Amino acid sequence: MRIVHNISKRVDEADRELLKLLAMKADDSEFVTIRIDEADPRWPEVARWVAEQNPVDIYWTEFTNEEVAAARWVRLFTDWMHGYPQPEDDYAELTYGATGCGKCAVGRVQRAPFRLKGEPRWGRRGIFQLFWVYSEFFVRPEVWKEVFRPLGVEARPVLNRKGTQELRTVVQLVANEQVSVATADLLHAICPVCGERKYLPHRRGPFPSLLAEPGSHYVKTTQWFGDGGEAFQETVISNALMRALVAHAARGAKGWPVADADMKRVDPTVKAFGGT
Ligand SMILES: [Zn+2]
Repeated sequence: MRIVHNISKRVDEADRELLKLLAMKADDSEFVTIRIDEADPRWPEVARWVAEQNPVDIYWTEFTNEEVAAARWVRLFTDWMHGYPQPEDDYAELTYGATGCGKCAVGRVQRAPFRLKGEPRWGRRGIFQLFWVYSEFFVRPEVWKEVFRPLGVEARPVLNRKGTQELRTVVQLVANEQVSVATADLLHAICPVCGERKYLPHRRGPFPSLLAEPGSHYVKTTQWFGDGGEAFQETVISNALMRALVAHAARGAKGWPVADADMKRVDPTVKAFGGT
């Protein structure tokens, strides 16, 4: 596991001196982007600079294939964001009806199929997500039949842009269970309209541990995440499902290990539901 930062800043002479001292690449452009791992011996110095200068610092955690394979549960994500839900202006109303908060989007419930511009151009990939809709995953029908269906995961159809026709080469996966995660280490905001919490997307280290053992292989978190107008529930899948995806070589699927050290700890402030 390593924590990687992508830091961007408009640099002045002092910055340039520091970067030179640290033997980091800073060409003559006004704006530099540096990518650094927290295990790098230069990181403490860079971290001090980041704290002082407050540049744009996007960070995430990278796990080895072995770490992912060893995790009992992983948060599912993909390396392919394939466009936007359709029609872009009306998709929320068409897909979720009047459910969810109008301000923060927490509480949306899917009432109708998603629509796409057309059949996805899959190439050799097998799974994707849409921008704005980070809760949902879309796969080729054969990936669903061979990987997900044997483990009890259901699928629902996806429509064309006008909603008049089912697409033939894509289905949406369906989670029928929710699980709560430990929230002690997560930052959150409370919506002034609905009073619900929205957690900042988790980026450092293993994903927070589950408060109950899910009874199915593909579940959503009870908690909602997001840092803007969007809100989404993260998707957590079992080791068996992640292995099946890897074995099928369904390109695009990525797993972020879930911590399981304190699986039995129950946070009394969060009501767990679903599962067994
Ligand atoms: Zn709200």
